[in-house]
Amino acid sequence: MTAPRRWRLTKPLRARIRAGHPWIYDRALSPPKGLGAGDIVTLVDDEGPVATALADPTSPLRARVLDLVPDQVIDAAWVRARAEAASARRSRDPLLVGCTGRRLVHGEADGCPGLVVDHYEDTAVVVFDGAAAAAFWRPRLPDVIDGLERGGHAIAHVWIRGERRDRTAGEALRGDPPPEIVITEDDARFSVDVRAGQKTGFFLDQRDNRRTIRRHAAGQTVLNVFSYTGGFSLHAALGGAARVTSVDIAAPALAGLERNLELTCLAPEQHEAVVADAFDFFARSRQRGRRWDLVIVDPPSFAPSEKARPAALSAYRKLAVAALSVVEPTGRFALASCSSHVTEADLLEIAAGLGPLRLRLSGGAGTDHPVVPAFPEGRYLKFLFFDVG
Ligand code: SAH
Repeated sequence: MTAPRRWRLTKPLRARIRAGHPWIYDRALSPPKGLGAGDIVTLVDDEGPVATALADPTSPLRARVLDLVPDQVIDAAWVRARAEAASARRSRDPLLVGCTGRRLVHGEADGCPGLVVDHYEDTAVVVFDGAAAAAFWRPRLPDVIDGLERGGHAIAHVWIRGERRDRTAGEALRGDPPPEIVITEDDARFSVDVRAGQKTGFFLDQRDNRRTIRRHAAGQTVLNVFSYTGGFSLHAALGGAARVTSVDIAAPALAGLERNLELTCLAPEQHEAVVADAFDFFARSRQRGRRWDLVIVDPPSFAPSEKARPAALSAYRKLAVAALSVVEPTGRFALASCSSHVTEADLLEIAAGLGPLRLRLSGGAGTDHPVVPAFPEGRYLKFLFFDVG
């Protein structure tokens, strides 16, 4: 087998890469002569070889580290071993017991740059982060799936998500995923549509934060804004909430919520679903003097890029102010952000200007979305939970 091509680092990144940082940008690499998207290369500097990487010569994110062994042979056994290790980590995770929706491969943090695989019952849903990741992983998927099964997860169906969110985008690599998959998350049950649902069908990453809300819900009136199919709402109801109100702008999301209440055997009378824009809903509730003991706000990403950050921070501030105006004077308030460009420090700074708040706890994505210390950029989800008053 011939050794991979050499690609020269033009910045002193050896130590960072060796510590586990997996991303190299265009400004830190020599021009990518003759390289194609998804090619395997060995990064080198003046001291010699540094690591084996995946090339993306037309993207600002030019290379992603595959292995710290330079000239590593990336064959079927390598792919299977990575996937098996990732799958086995989930199999032995006590926080995933009783949860049949799990992320099995979380990209860089599982040593599989640009690859996401979520598992719903016996269906695996695959997402590639960009064209180079697709070019690299697509032909290797049979080995990925093989490794995931060896790691303890049965896979009857494999669905590759398309770019668009309609039923005609995407393709089945194995089997034919059923139109409705019912997963359990502790004793909540959720209906998942892997073809047309948001993300891969469900927001798996909020699992532990939903559990937090459940522990705080007994006897409370709960408002869940940006509810999607009711992840936080169901857990609040199971935790003994007096009444739950869910708000989302998308009617199909709230239809999904009704289905999930039924699947979880929760009485629909305890629950109010409102199709509305979040800001309109807050304004209307304020006018009517409506308040809740516990308010959860989990908006879509406001900052898709670093450039969008200032606008995003001001949107989070507006949202937090509006949400706090409907929290009972001694209630609780949870604010989530899924943008990697908005840090926990940013959110705390916003909160600092908003009156008497006490940080009760701060959370992130669940343990099936691992974060490696050398790559804090991977910690995209923040969840801050405050006592008010
Ligand atoms: N908390 C959810 C995930 C929220 S995803 C869970 O745990 O599953 C964000 C949701 O916000 C989506 O369902 C989207 O339809 C909704 N949304 C987007 N813009 C909105 C707006 N302006 N007002 C209300 N909901 C909105």
